[in-house]
Amino acid sequence: MSKRKKSTTAFKKANKFIPGGVNSPARAFSAVEMDPIFIEKGEGAYLYDIDGNQYLEYVNSWGPMILGYNPPQVIEELEKQLQLGTSFGAPTEVETEIAELITEFYPAVDKVRMVNSGTEATMSAIRLARGYTGRDKIVKLEGCYHGHGDSLLVDAGSGLATLGIKGSPGVTENTARETIVAPYNDQKAVAEIFNKYGSEIAGIILEPVTGNMGVIAPQRGYLEFLREITYKNGSLLIFDEVMTGFRLSRGGAQELYAIEPDLSTFGKIIGGGMPVGAYAGKKEIMDYVAPLGPVYQAGTLSGNPMAMQAGLTTLKALKKEDVYLELEKKGQKLEAGIKKNIEELNFPAYFNRVGSMFTLFFTDKEVQNYQDVKECDLDLFAAYFKEMINQGIYLPPSQFEANFISLALTDSDLDKTITANYKALNKLKA
Ligand code: PLP
Repeated sequence: MSKRKKSTTAFKKANKFIPGGVNSPARAFSAVEMDPIFIEKGEGAYLYDIDGNQYLEYVNSWGPMILGYNPPQVIEELEKQLQLGTSFGAPTEVETEIAELITEFYPAVDKVRMVNSGTEATMSAIRLARGYTGRDKIVKLEGCYHGHGDSLLVDAGSGLATLGIKGSPGVTENTARETIVAPYNDQKAVAEIFNKYGSEIAGIILEPVTGNMGVIAPQRGYLEFLREITYKNGSLLIFDEVMTGFRLSRGGAQELYAIEPDLSTFGKIIGGGMPVGAYAGKKEIMDYVAPLGPVYQAGTLSGNPMAMQAGLTTLKALKKEDVYLELEKKGQKLEAGIKKNIEELNFPAYFNRVGSMFTLFFTDKEVQNYQDVKECDLDLFAAYFKEMINQGIYLPPSQFEANFISLALTDSDLDKTITANYKALNKLKA
């Protein structure tokens, strides 16, 4: 499209030097059969591409930018840190400060270990669960994505689902064998797995509210059931809150549903837009990590001062009284508007939202698990995406993803989105 000529040229060049022209598959726009848009800058709720187009934006860099792009307080702290130095490979006080702040909102967390990405966080949490319990098997849920660590790259959602990839070549059969997969929201399937392998299971890892197959909430009693069955079997319950942490509430999904996992993983928001991940839990388990304990994990740039400053400043902004109420209000407004459009147009679509995460599924059925998402009309999704982007609304380019609401979105931005949604659905119906 000529409106994005420079992006098309940039993508062609990128393809020469970068596999697929992108540094993470979800950015390639494969599912919507378009060239990706190259970004120049972000400001508040808007992104600007290199052709000078402006987009109202619901990707939030895949979650971290809950305050919007370029929040002044974060930029200020980053500039200060820049003058002091970008990395020391030695402890800094800000690392303790952010760890303490996380423990303040997560009663299940006494200690936090910082890493550089969500992938590292879940890989390390799995290693710790295995080391701590002395068991090898991990249970994961279909459609949940936990980064690209070998053990967890089985039936994952997100980019794999978008590209229709079940697992990945390069993950050995032995590794894959130690990961047992159950459908999300299916208590019976998990009970059967524990009946068979209970004493061999180190832990179960899940997105307590899923984002990587689109937004799906746990059915009533599901998380309680997982808490109980893991407890009874001496296995650890691991909540992957890389996406949901500090997003669904200050205390993440574990606060929202009042369940205390044994281990939690974080990322995205806690880095305020810089590369960060973390795994965390009760002292007894976390002290099993080196240098105190035998489970080894390390990182040259872990606890990087730039990343810690961006994260800490973001988390401090989220401490303000009404922040999550405000996000909920924005979510409710958008939900009401889009649901009204669906109803008025009698359009076969299903809207799911938890807090500031939502997905519009192109199906007339309720969506409860990965199978339901796979049955969505992906062509219709692609057509919808194009209609929206051509109206200047930038959504995640896949049905298997969550949309994010940031604090930077104004009422008029939300109205604009609802109107664009009506126009898009109306056109697709014709
Ligand atoms: N866990 C969840 C729930 C995620 O959503 C993601 C990324 O989207 C990850 C882990 C991996 O994080 P990263 O991309 O920072 O490696």
